[in-house]
Amino acid sequence: MRADMHSHSTASDGTSAPAEVMQRASAAGLDAIALTDHDTVAGHRAAADALPPGLTLVPGMELSCRLDGHSVHLLGYLFDADDAELAAECARIRESRLHRARAMVDRLAELGAPVTWEQVSEIAGDGVVGRPHIARAMVAAGVISSPDEAFGPDWIGTGGRAHVTRYALDPARAVGLIRAAGGVTVLAHPRAGARGRMMPDDVIADLAAAGLHGVEVWHPDQGQEQRAHLTALAADLGLVASGGSDDHGALTGYRIGCESTQQVGRNEEVSVAILKKKKMA
Ligand SMILES: [Zn+2]
Ligand SMILES: [Zn+2]
Repeated sequence: MRADMHSHSTASDGTSAPAEVMQRASAAGLDAIALTDHDTVAGHRAAADALPPGLTLVPGMELSCRLDGHSVHLLGYLFDADDAELAAECARIRESRLHRARAMVDRLAELGAPVTWEQVSEIAGDGVVGRPHIARAMVAAGVISSPDEAFGPDWIGTGGRAHVTRYALDPARAVGLIRAAGGVTVLAHPRAGARGRMMPDDVIADLAAAGLHGVEVWHPDQGQEQRAHLTALAADLGLVASGGSDDHGALTGYRIGCESTQQVGRNEEVSVAILKKKKMA
């Protein structure tokens, strides 16, 4: 069983349509793929309709949370997408994403970067708008030469000149929301320094006490030392260790399947538990 528990499509800020994500997951030899777009389940239907034989789709979502001013990402799986409270919170986050994207474009204009909302909107298409869409518009406008550059202090990186914050959930509440909707949660990339703060162990322990199911150990932005630490911490806290590529298509070099739950035997637990739950549903 090889499951990549973290991927994005054009339903949020990935560059591959959901059907293409499924095709690439299959081509990578995966047994299961979780589609975890930011704050939306909009890609699930198209992914399910395009599912190649032998591949299992784990419907999921990466929920935007914030704790003490730091961004926290929470992966949720197999929840009831029609749950009213969860759906309302996701809609609120998406609405806030739209407002803040427009505000960031305004600030970029003030800074002399010739990026318009129309350009960003065209790149985002039907997807939940995110900073990578703005970054791509900045590349197209010749402001920067690669999307990564947008995330520095000069532009839309956290605390950057054109950065604007938005609504996000308290992570313990988000764990509760997903659980109440019948799903399970995995804390995404808690020790990926490049993606914000390194989450302290006691914060992870608090989330475990709040009902967190697992922690993402195998993520491309977490090195060997962090993986070893998180594996031990997960064992201590009774959390399952999970893994995923966090593939965003062209933005991340089409890396689907580069990380999965296969690396260590016990990590099959997370995919097996999740898939069992799916069968029961
Ligand atoms: Zn994330
Ligand atoms: Zn992600």
